[in-house]
Amino acid sequence: MERRNVGILGATGMVGQRFIQLLSQHPWFEITWLAASDRSAGKTYGEACRWKLDTPLPPKIAAMTLQPNVPEGAVGELPKIIFAALDAEIARELEPKFAAAGCAVISNSSAFRMTTDVPLVVPEVNADHLHLIEHQSWRRESQAGSHPGGYIVTNPNCSAIGLVLALKPLEERFGIESLFVSTMQAVSGAGYPGVASLDILGNVIPFIKNEEEKLQEEVVKLLGTLDDNHVEMLDARLTAHCNRVAVEDGHTECVSIKLRKPATYEEILAAWAEFQPLNGQHLPSAPDQPVEYDTAIDRPQPRLDRMRGKGMASTVGRLRPCSLLDWKFVVLSHNTIRGAAGAAILNAEVLARLGKFASVKKAEVRGAVYA
Ligand code: NAP
Repeated sequence: MERRNVGILGATGMVGQRFIQLLSQHPWFEITWLAASDRSAGKTYGEACRWKLDTPLPPKIAAMTLQPNVPEGAVGELPKIIFAALDAEIARELEPKFAAAGCAVISNSSAFRMTTDVPLVVPEVNADHLHLIEHQSWRRESQAGSHPGGYIVTNPNCSAIGLVLALKPLEERFGIESLFVSTMQAVSGAGYPGVASLDILGNVIPFIKNEEEKLQEEVVKLLGTLDDNHVEMLDARLTAHCNRVAVEDGHTECVSIKLRKPATYEEILAAWAEFQPLNGQHLPSAPDQPVEYDTAIDRPQPRLDRMRGKGMASTVGRLRPCSLLDWKFVVLSHNTIRGAAGAAILNAEVLARLGKFASVKKAEVRGAVYA
């Protein structure tokens, strides 16, 4: 695979930093453009960002100048692939501008996740939904002209991603009738500086704005069926309780589920173990085993299990009968890797494999903008 230039919009935030960490060593993508708010534009990344990750900020990135957050403001060539980690309100305004400028916008935000012609994708679950980009106006109009045109692809809310990985193999084999999920979500999911320490230390906050609604609607779109220009939502009943807890990274979710067909303990474990839909595609960020089941009585736990599959696997444990529905279990996934930046990068890898990016120009890497 040829290396392609990429940009990051919202590069200084919690998810933006993960993008930098994961893309700095990526075999297919090269970071050549960074932008954040107007407050940061013109500063070097090292000056503008409060780096919060446990690996060093790469010196080459620290020296890059943050660009204005509009496509026409790019110094040098604007990359045709933009990873976006923006607040929903800002994403609603900025992401279409980049798509209209011919960029593939790989978004983390909720702004367009439920828009009919915008794919909401977890590659192991519903890569076929990526076909929706062909219905987006930016792409259709520019295809009539000379270039392939921009589009927006989204990844789900951080709790929805870990959950649907565990649900997809069950939906495929047994069908899902109804689901109850209660989350314990890490503080890094609220961005930086996030929840005040005096609010969260020694505490649980039983409210995350719009989170329950997002989780409920996104899961049925992700598990829905593509019907040419739209997705038929999964016909299942779902209720979510979302809580913020004093954990740094890693969302834990307690699930009770009613299946359409009876399934034994062994059949459910087999469905998870045999779920390897991306095998053979050799995507750099895809975990070999997307759903890992841990038989220990007290797992999964965020501190111990969030980095499985380099932070891209969903760990499941404690499968047992449920006295209200059929079965219950616990799911854990890393919220800023699998739940955000890693998910977006995996979406980009699938798009690259499908040939949905503009072809690479030999001189592309020269577009990098350094201070
Ligand atoms: P964050 O830490 O608050 O970062 C926000 C980023 O947006 C910063 O880089 C900030 O730049 C930039 N920004 C603010 N205003 C801007 C503007 N007008 N134009 C361009 N950039 C602007 O937030 P986050 O946690 O990284 O989340 C980013 C998005 O990802 C949100 O939509 C969030 O819901 C979603 N998401 C987050 C997680 C997670 O676990 N954290 C998971 C899934 C999805 P400055 O430094 O210049 O202010």
